[in-house]
Amino acid sequence: MASYLASIYGTEQDKVNCSFYFKIGACRHGDRCSRKHTKPPYSQTILVANVYQNPKHADPMCPISEEELQAQFNDFYEDFFVELAKYGAVVEMHVCDNVGEHLIGNVYARFEWEEEAQRAVDALNDRWYAGRPLFAELSPVTDFREACCRQHESNECQRGGFCNFMHVRPPNQRLVHQLHHEQSVEVKMRKRKEREAKAAEREHRKGGWKDDVEGTASPNGSATGPGTGGDDWRRGKSGGDWRNGPSSGSDWRGAEGGEDQSSRRRSQSPPGRRD
Ligand SMILES: [Zn+2]
Ligand SMILES: [Zn+2]
Repeated sequence: MASYLASIYGTEQDKVNCSFYFKIGACRHGDRCSRKHTKPPYSQTILVANVYQNPKHADPMCPISEEELQAQFNDFYEDFFVELAKYGAVVEMHVCDNVGEHLIGNVYARFEWEEEAQRAVDALNDRWYAGRPLFAELSPVTDFREACCRQHESNECQRGGFCNFMHVRPPNQRLVHQLHHEQSVEVKMRKRKEREAKAAEREHRKGGWKDDVEGTASPNGSATGPGTGGDDWRRGKSGGDWRNGPSSGSDWRGAEGGEDQSSRRRSQSPPGRRD
């Protein structure tokens, strides 16, 4: 019996647990769902709800060209990926282009480790993006193939934007490869710095006994320890729109960021910066 229950967990046959929440991490009934939405106590995957704002969703008559829309989306993807990568190794990141309330603009990211996902959730819940507070949570999604609409991938989904499976908007593939590449270089560098800092600290703890190499290994290498040093990772083009503080010209804010949304908006950036 127990193994039967385990085998149907989160499927259509499961009368207790919501299969939509289990597979997609979001269900159109929300808290009023008759089946259970069991929030995972830990997970590699996070959901940041309703962040990507497709101007076509706000106004279907919006005169933006498909190219410009995609260029804006690529900028958004890059911006978000780079920020999430500060909390850990991002294995994959997907952005929903659905229009239903529970899926619109959702960003899902899977990290290499559960602690990284938790760290990201804790930090993002104190932050703002594009003048709005962020809502992040651990998500039960483990396999995005199960969460994504297969018909959408072949352009055959009859439900369109209101589909209850993820309609992922694909970013430029070259950009995705580049982001993953830069991330792996960054991780390697960070690990090397950590190793060097540890070695320097060991050396320091040895006290008076030193080899005759003073000046080559700095004893205060701890300044490059974990948690620091990550902030100087800026991609030239993205210009680092993420901020903790309410500085001007930024889409990103910390929890205390005011309401005034200043000058520069990504939507006004020139089109065709990447193709
Ligand atoms: Zn549900
Ligand atoms: Zn669909």
